[in-house]
Amino acid sequence: MQDLSNKVILTVAPTGAWPTKKDTPYIPIQPEEIAKDVYDCWKAGASIAHIHVRDDENRASMEFNKFKATLEAIRATDCDIVLNTTTSGGLGIDDEIRMKPFTQLKPDIASYDCGSMNWANSTVFENSPKFLEKLGMRMQEVGVKPEIEIFDAGMVYNALYYLKKGVLKAPLHFQFVLGVPGGMAATVENLVFLKSLIPEGSTWGALGIGKGHLPIMYAALAMGGHLRVGMEDNIFMSRGILAKSNVEFIERTKCIVEAMGKQIATPKEAREILNIKSDLNHEK
Ligand code: ZN
Repeated sequence: MQDLSNKVILTVAPTGAWPTKKDTPYIPIQPEEIAKDVYDCWKAGASIAHIHVRDDENRASMEFNKFKATLEAIRATDCDIVLNTTTSGGLGIDDEIRMKPFTQLKPDIASYDCGSMNWANSTVFENSPKFLEKLGMRMQEVGVKPEIEIFDAGMVYNALYYLKKGVLKAPLHFQFVLGVPGGMAATVENLVFLKSLIPEGSTWGALGIGKGHLPIMYAALAMGGHLRVGMEDNIFMSRGILAKSNVEFIERTKCIVEAMGKQIATPKEAREILNIKSDLNHEK
């Protein structure tokens, strides 16, 4: 078997729920734009695409038809990127609407936000126990891998609880999201602490929001983690300089990873590392 220990999975999160064309004119928002951006990022070496969509007014959304159009446009090409759809594309959305895109479209991965949190002074990011139980069981039924997103340490303990209950199955895959308002700050100390809590045999990645982006990337790389870049998390290449496309982030990260003596995982290698058996997404 091929040695994958030196491979780093690189996720691109091109859109997210919040940045607008006013923040950066370079962000892809509608399905055709997102699909093209994902394709270009895949060509540049990205392993996974983490997809959010917006409604016709470009607002955060879980509109099924937007997911469908985006995934269909990506799948219509020769691109075999690992597909990861969000279940948290907006606030206060009905459980079934949050689960419909992965249930119907069967990406490889969908996000599993493992607890609720106050989004600083604005609102509650709600992931109730009832929802998380349903979400975990539904993901098992349809064969979609949960990406357990962790914004705060208690969310890791929630994941351990769901693992014990059978709502989540090992090996778990964690994504540490550091630096959101109301969550844990994007510091190396926090990342080291969070990583110490997860079960042996788990896989994990990390990202820092905004200015935490590069420090967390370097730390995660040094600690053997996987990476995520893209305008969902950060729109600047350097202070005051907007990225002109998500491809710029992929290209820079590739250089950093290779300077560490590692390589970015291909989509096929990423599926192997994450134990994704589904061949629904392109065995090309
Ligand atoms: Zn997301």
